[in-house]
Parts: sequence; C-alpha cells; structure tokens
Amino acid sequence: MAVKRPVEERTGTFAPEYLPAVIELRNVVKHYGKIKAVDGVSLLVGQGEIFGLLGPNGAGKTTMIRMLITLTRPTAGELYVAGYSVAGRPVEVKRRIGVVPQQNNLERELTGRQNLLLHALLHKIPGPERTRRIEELLAYVGLQARADEQIQRYSGGMARRLLIARAMLHRPPILFMDEPTIGLDPQTRRKIWDLIQLMNREGVTVLLTTHYIEEAESLCHRVGIVDYGRLIALGTPAELKASLGEVCAEFLGSGGTSRRFFPTRAGAKEYAQNRDDDVTVRRTNLEDVFVELTGREARELSSG
Ligand code: ATP
Repeated sequence: MAVKRPVEERTGTFAPEYLPAVIELRNVVKHYGKIKAVDGVSLLVGQGEIFGLLGPNGAGKTTMIRMLITLTRPTAGELYVAGYSVAGRPVEVKRRIGVVPQQNNLERELTGRQNLLLHALLHKIPGPERTRRIEELLAYVGLQARADEQIQRYSGGMARRLLIARAMLHRPPILFMDEPTIGLDPQTRRKIWDLIQLMNREGVTVLLTTHYIEEAESLCHRVGIVDYGRLIALGTPAELKASLGEVCAEFLGSGGTSRRFFPTRAGAKEYAQNRDDDVTVRRTNLEDVFVELTGREARELSSG
C-alpha cells in the first residue's frame, strides 16, 4: 500500500513519488456505549509524512491515536503500524513508536535526566549507549542546563520538550503526538515545530492532533479533518484550500461573517464590487476549510 507523496508546500516543489504506508486504519470503528467515538475511518499515512488530524473537541482524534498506540482496541476494523497489525503484534508496534501524550505523564518527583533514564531502562537500551542518547536528546531539546531539576519545577514548554525527548529515546521511526503544543506560548510553540521538522527531516513519520490551524498549515504535509468520528476531508493544506476556491471574499452581514470562495482573485473582486457591504478579498486559509466543513470556528473549539 502506498500514499502519494505530498506536495512540499514550504519549498513549493512537487515530488510525485509514492511512499509506503506506515500507519493504516481500515474501516475502524470505536464505540463507548452509545457514543460512536470513531465511526468507520480508513486512512493511510506515508513514511516520512507529518500528518495532522484536525477536528472539534470530541471528534475522535485521541481515540484514533489510542487505538494505534495499542492502548485501546477498536470495536471493528483493523489498524497497522510499521507494517504490523496492532491487534496481532502489539509488542512489535510498541518498539517502533514514540508517543507524546496530551497530558504530561512525566514522573514529577524525578529530574528530567532521571525521567529519560527510566524510559531508557524500560526499553533496555544498553549502558554506554543509554548515557550518550540521553545527553544527545537533552541537547537536542535544549534542556541540558535544567536536566537535573525535578519535573515539578519545569514550565509547560520545558515539560513538553522533555516528553518529546523521551518519546525519541529508543529511536522510533514513527511518532504519535496528541496536541503537542497545547497551552504553549507562540514562541515555545514554534520551537516545538522546529523540533518536529528536524526529526521529520531525519526520517521520522509524525502523526499529530491539533486544534491550531496555523500549526497544521505550516507543519503538516497532509491534514485529515475529523468530525463526529468520521474523516470528512483529507489532503494537503493546498488541496483542501483549492477545493473551496483559492480566494475568499469576506464580509460582515446581518447574520454574522459570511464568506464566498472563488477560484481567482478577479472573480472575488467582481463579486466585491457588486455588493454594498465592505468586502475583504484575501487568500483562502485552512481555517476557512475547517469552518466550512464543520460549521464551527477553530478558535472557539480550542478553548472548549
Ligand atoms: P479533543 O479535541 O477534545 O481532545 P478528540 O477529538 O480527541 O477530542 P476523543 O477524546 O477521541 O475526541 O473523544 C471522542 C468521543 O469519545 C467523545 O465523545 C468522548 O467523550 C468519548 N470518549 C473518549 N474516551 C472515552 C472513554 N474512555 N469512555 C467513554 N467515552 C469516551
């Protein structure tokens, strides 16, 4: 199974090769009693991609990740990670994945370095290699100077960076990140984006969830929009925007903000000239796609 290589939006180059899929969901369903958390999702993520799952609160993003990382079983359907069936070969899967959870689950009484050591021991990384990798990763995430402080003294951004270092310690080729930058200030968020891009450049495939449209737009090669447990859109940010129309005419009407989409600026301008309201003509962004498809503003949702 292969995935079409995504458009490199940051450089504008297009590499039309095909990538092998390293994450796969086949008709996956997960019910919690009457709640359909995931309602028939099929998805392929290619090797080397940064793939983002976007969606309102309760859409099913975390549940998808929890099934992929062996923490909960699907009600129906199949999941594969690194070519292994998650149900049939969970140990093989666990060996090949790193996980950055939504909640900080570091040992608060231990120092940053001790937390990494604990993880290295659990993964049976041999002695000298263990020390080398811990020091390398502390430097990588910029925490060498604070490595001997207890986690309870870390800021949110420092804890997130240590969680990333811990997830990478056993050198997994696939990384799952559930809202990696939630609650962080814009500067720290950008540092985490840099880290994700650096890891990705070294070949790591990343599946992340986010409420930040800007994060998905600037970081992810492809994005899936999830709503009510279903995948309602899938593509590169550019493809998703083009599906609406590259140019947006926006105006404040009596019923609130309205938007119309056009394939060209000329079309949008003509529309603007024929209206009495103040119309802003601008490029369509991923937030527009999200709002059109889910009927909700992403910003309202991230505070929910
Ligand atoms: P958020 O953006 O708020 O993190 P999400 O898209 O990650 O949301 P999930 O956490 O996957 O959504 O939840 C999907 C649905 O499944 C929600 O209705 C949630 O209440 C429900 N759910 C999740 N875990 C459980 C559980 N262990 N028991 C019962 N219901 C659950």
